[in-house]
Formats: sequence, structure tokens, C-alpha cells
Amino acid sequence: MAAQMRDLFPICRSISGDGVRETLRDIGSRIPLEIQEVASGTQVLDRTVPDEWNIRDAYISAPDGERIVDFQSSNLHVMSYSEPVRAHMTLSELRPHLFTHPERADWIPYRTSYYERAWGFCLAEEVLDTLEHVEYEVVIDSTLEPGSLTYGECFIPGDDDDVVLLTTHVCHPSLANDNLSGIALLTELAAQLVHTRHRLSYRLLFIPGTIGSLAWLAANRERLASVVAGIVVACVGDPAPLTYKRTRRGTALVDRAAAHVLESGYRDARVVDFVPWGWDERQFNSPGFDLPVGSLSRSREGEYAEYHSSADDLDLVQPEQLEETLLALGAILDVVERNRTFTNRIPHGEPQLGKRGLYPSTGGGLPDVERLAMLWLLNQSDGSKSVLDIALRAGISFDVLAGCAERLLEAELLAVSEESRL
Ligand code: ZN
Repeated sequence: MAAQMRDLFPICRSISGDGVRETLRDIGSRIPLEIQEVASGTQVLDRTVPDEWNIRDAYISAPDGERIVDFQSSNLHVMSYSEPVRAHMTLSELRPHLFTHPERADWIPYRTSYYERAWGFCLAEEVLDTLEHVEYEVVIDSTLEPGSLTYGECFIPGDDDDVVLLTTHVCHPSLANDNLSGIALLTELAAQLVHTRHRLSYRLLFIPGTIGSLAWLAANRERLASVVAGIVVACVGDPAPLTYKRTRRGTALVDRAAAHVLESGYRDARVVDFVPWGWDERQFNSPGFDLPVGSLSRSREGEYAEYHSSADDLDLVQPEQLEETLLALGAILDVVERNRTFTNRIPHGEPQLGKRGLYPSTGGGLPDVERLAMLWLLNQSDGSKSVLDIALRAGISFDVLAGCAERLLEAELLAVSEESRL
């Protein structure tokens, strides 16, 4: 994951253009990926796909020819979607187009203007302070014209048609935690899923933020009924504790699975409620779709000082943090995969476990966790409560309960319920 992030870091991405295509080509060299192009002007729900933006170079140079601000040294220097400019102007003419970080004089901020034609440069305040009242040459060698929006889709079939939707945004330039960490994490997860057998099918989307999820939703309305769980992944490599944001419904299987995994295995992890702010979960959870899609991150958007600035670099994302998020995501998906509902076949009085080899014949001591897990399973399995429900109520790990459920199933004390496992 760290190596992929290093490869992708220098690329200038935006919500459209060749930077996104180059990024998707890299992902496609690691996992099966279908590339979709949606033409500029296409109506997607209540929005229209904008013109495509590409950039080759940009700079502000002093009268002696020295580049004071140079796109070649950091692609954050140009406001994303800047229209082309080629002019000579005074500092006071240029000043309304210059943006600095509100808190740190040495950081370059990240700015965009996707839906309003504009141009601008982002620079460190301490560089701005050196500008003098002379005439500068200002060049943005970009194109903003009809083309298309590009996104990538990776489908990994399972035994069932039920689908888990996993998405991340791919529209940010040289920023590491937001959004390269999400790209690297989902690429790695897909590479693992390709080689393992699983019940559920997985659809992973690598999409430009907002407009990309709207374009996918508009094109896939007939597929949405098969989505049984989903997670939007972003900002997964910074040092903040793991954070799961619930779906709009708040009680979906993925919400309960994530709460159980994070609360039982990760100290300091947070489970926060849904708010209609954030990443693409806003679109998936709009009331017309109301999909069971939560979001997994470490920091949430805007929560860390380096957010949307040049300090969100590769040093901020530590491999151990990425790895921990990947393991947590895997554990959440494992619960979604394996959760089932059972019925106790001998529900009148407790069945005798000892004669079935499930309980030691000498009594008197306190039950160990496995015995207690079996008693919980037998008590709660009336066809209405899943193993996950029991895990949440009993405070016993899903893994232990799922293992004990297998043993009770073998001993013919439990039967798989006809009720939906979801
Ligand atoms: Zn962002």
C-alpha cells in the first residue's frame, strides 16, 4: 500500500482528466478494473457532468524570469479546474487569485472551483509575503472543454448475488491521507478478495467525489436492490483512532458489524452517527436511495490539521495505521459475510450439553466464555436474532459465538433459520 501511494503521489488528479485516468491505469494493473467514461454534459440525477480539465504547466514568474510559484514543484499550487490564463499583471491585479493557508504560513492549501469558472494559485503565506509591487507573468496552461468523467469499477463475484459496495474518491492531487490512503487500501483489499472464496459479491468503486457517485448511481439504479452493505473508505492512514460513521438508517447490518468489531477490538475507536456531510456516503444515503452504506476512516474530513494542505503528505500516513484500518475493514466484512440466524431445536428447557460432549460433566465452576457463548446462542436463537445480535447483547466476540454456533449446528441443537441472515 505504501509503495502504491508513493507511485501515485506525484499525479495531478481532479474530478476529471488524465490524472484520474493514469491513477486508474495503475489500479487496473493490480486488480481487475473496468473503466467507465461519462461524457461532459450528461445529466446525472440533479447535476450535469462538467467539462474535462487537464493541465500541463502553470507558474507566476518575476520580471527576472524566476518562477515564484511553480506547478512543477507542487500541483497544489494551481486551484483545481482553473481556466487557462496567460497574462502580465500587477500584484494588486493578481492578489484576488492567490490563496494561502489560514493557519500555517509554510503550508500550501488545496483549493478547487469545479462548478464555477475561475482561476487561482495556492501558495504558502511566507512566499506571498515576499511578492513585490512589480509586474508578474501569470500562466496557467490548462484546458477546460467537453470530454468525459472517468471512474473505475472492480467487481469480484461471490457465491451469492448480494453485493457489498466499497468506494473511495480518486479526485485529489498530491495529498496522501485524503485520498491516496483510501485508494491504496481498497486496491489491496480487492487484491486479497480476488484470491479468497466468499459468500458475498463485492463491487469496489474508484470515483471522483460527489459527481462520480452520482454518475454511478444514475447508471446503476436497477442494481441497487442487491446492495446489502457498503462502506465509503477515506482518510484511513493518519494517526487518529479508527472511526466508523453510521448509515442514515443507523441500525443496518454494516452499522452493527462495525460497532461490534471496533468496540470489541480497537481501543479509542469511535462510532459516530450519520450526518449529511462528509464524502460519498451523502449520495448513497440520500432518502431516494437510502442504501446501507456507512463510512470508515481514521480522521473524518477536516478533523486533522494537515487536511487539504501540502502537509497531508506521505509522512503523515504510516504503514501500521493503514494496516490496522485494513484489518478492521476485513473484520467488519467478515462479520457481514458470516452472520446467520439460527433456531434452537430443543427450546423447552436447556438441552443437556454434557452428553453431547459440549460441556464438562463436573460442575460448580463459573462458565468459560465458550460455554457461556453456547448458552447465549441456545437462549436467543428463536429465529429472530442473528449471531451478531447475540454478540452485541452478550458482549461476547462474534468470532467465539460463530465458532460455537458451528458446534451446536453439528450437534443438531441449532438449525439454520429460514429467516434472512441480513
Ligand atoms: Zn478532500
